[in-house]
Amino acid sequence: MCGIVGYKGKNNNAIKVVIEGLENLEYRGYDSAGIAYLKDNKIYIEKETGRIKNLKENLNLKEKTNLAIGHTRWATHGIPKKINAHPHQVGKFTIVHNGIIENYLSLKEELIKNNYTFKSDTDTEIACAYLDYIYKQEKDILKSLQKLIKIIKGSYAFGIICEDDKDNLYALRSSSPLIIALGKNENYIASDVPAILKYTNKYIILENYEIAKISNDNITIYNKELQEVNKTINTYEEKYESNTKGQYEHFMLKEINEEPDTFEKTINSCLQNNFKDINLKKYTNIHIVACGSAYHAGLVGKYLIEKFANIKVYTQVASEYRYEKTFYDKNTLVILISQSGETADTLAALRKAKDNKIDTLSIVNVFKSSIARESKYVVYTKAGSEIAVATTKAYLAQLTLLIALTLNLSKKTINKEQITKIKEQITNLIKKDDYKTIANKIYKAKNIFFIGRGIDYALCMEGSLKLKEISYINSVAYQAGELKHGTISLIEENTPVIAILTEEKLIEKTISNIKEVKARGAHTIVISNEEIKNDEYDEIIKIPKTDELLQQLLTIIPLQLIAYEVAKLKNCDIDKPRNLAKSVTVE
Ligand code: GLU
Repeated sequence: MCGIVGYKGKNNNAIKVVIEGLENLEYRGYDSAGIAYLKDNKIYIEKETGRIKNLKENLNLKEKTNLAIGHTRWATHGIPKKINAHPHQVGKFTIVHNGIIENYLSLKEELIKNNYTFKSDTDTEIACAYLDYIYKQEKDILKSLQKLIKIIKGSYAFGIICEDDKDNLYALRSSSPLIIALGKNENYIASDVPAILKYTNKYIILENYEIAKISNDNITIYNKELQEVNKTINTYEEKYESNTKGQYEHFMLKEINEEPDTFEKTINSCLQNNFKDINLKKYTNIHIVACGSAYHAGLVGKYLIEKFANIKVYTQVASEYRYEKTFYDKNTLVILISQSGETADTLAALRKAKDNKIDTLSIVNVFKSSIARESKYVVYTKAGSEIAVATTKAYLAQLTLLIALTLNLSKKTINKEQITKIKEQITNLIKKDDYKTIANKIYKAKNIFFIGRGIDYALCMEGSLKLKEISYINSVAYQAGELKHGTISLIEENTPVIAILTEEKLIEKTISNIKEVKARGAHTIVISNEEIKNDEYDEIIKIPKTDELLQQLLTIIPLQLIAYEVAKLKNCDIDKPRNLAKSVTVE
């Protein structure tokens, strides 16, 4: 989701730091960008729709400035146009904001009665105006921010400059992530550490309702009672890597090619630690809660844990779970899965479990992210940083971790040879060139179906999501046996139907369903680890057969690569699909 970067220091390079920082957060997805900076004691604002490079054209990166805040926006209130881009400025305040102010309409009414007028459609401008309105009465920045926290509802991370105190940069947050980083004679704010990692790896995590006052050489953090709080200074362990695609045309392809290593690192780290701090045996009822691809990984986890460990597993998307009636007992474990560790709905689901005094285990990729910090137990996937918005290697790492969890809960084991073999098989599947041929046959379709039964259906869900999110082709995953109860009416001459057949006992059944769609003109593509008679499909992608517990690590590869090749043929912006954000920090 949106990115915030701010700089206060003596080193004269505020614009450069902020713009480069925003570029490091580009992968999060955004639709417009903007910056406010101090020059000759005056605050200047530049904003543009589209990519950061459009904004850069209006800026002199060498300009000597010591205070700046920048923003990449993922629109929630108001379409992506220049006037809605951040920063927003009202009265004495200039702010950037990530999140949603839920009660902005009632605040707006009050402000209109007090003669405020607005230029944009955003909730952010209302928050900015309200801060100015409070400040007129309080005449004290910290007290005004304290009051603002009491009044606004929703999720927010704010970077704030006030006309009356240009020696400090202010920040506050609730739910949306924000860190304060410490440099030499300079300090920073950012949505995530990699944004400023080029300059420092020392950082403080701002917690909910905390306010930060940041000068060149001092950072003071206050709680909502305005008492100073002592904060831990963390060291970010990963090295700064400028995010380059190397030999690859897209980050997505690079990341698919990193999957063999991701698998190896994640499985080895799980086998070493083996969930040793968690008394897993105690749980007889597991809930797996996540969003998007992480939820699809959770569906695979459900099949594996139920089948091999014989433990009941309930899976649900986090946006439903957080509001539905939930049945807990004293042996329930809630597992939360999120690449970024900041997914707003998943975080809310975690808090729901905690409010009910239920143990939580999070599976996240980003170290010390909010979900990691707030859950009772955390296990990290070892995918490294993932830049393409559509996940590939982080999803595979989640599958791997759920496999390791199943191993721990069941009597199954895995040895070194099996690990090496699977790694090799993943590598070989990535190298295959069948995917381009298939993509050529289906990329003009209006609708594409993915069908499968059992665990294959869980893979269909992910294959279908991958295809639609990057190629914009409408695609649906269906339980193979369910199609004839209505949806089969959508099958017409040449409609592509991709069928996954890896579950031995269900193969015959799914073949009957392939025949049903074939009889109605569908162009059928089979992905299977079995010998299938050649009159039962139009195209086939053969994948190796392996232990049932590990099979899905192979099945997913063709699905990711078909989506990639289709999107490429359609000239789509593969790494940054329209309307999408990488880390979804709003509800
Ligand atoms: N709600 C704000 C807007 O629509 C902020 C969105 C964001 O997090 O980028 O401008």
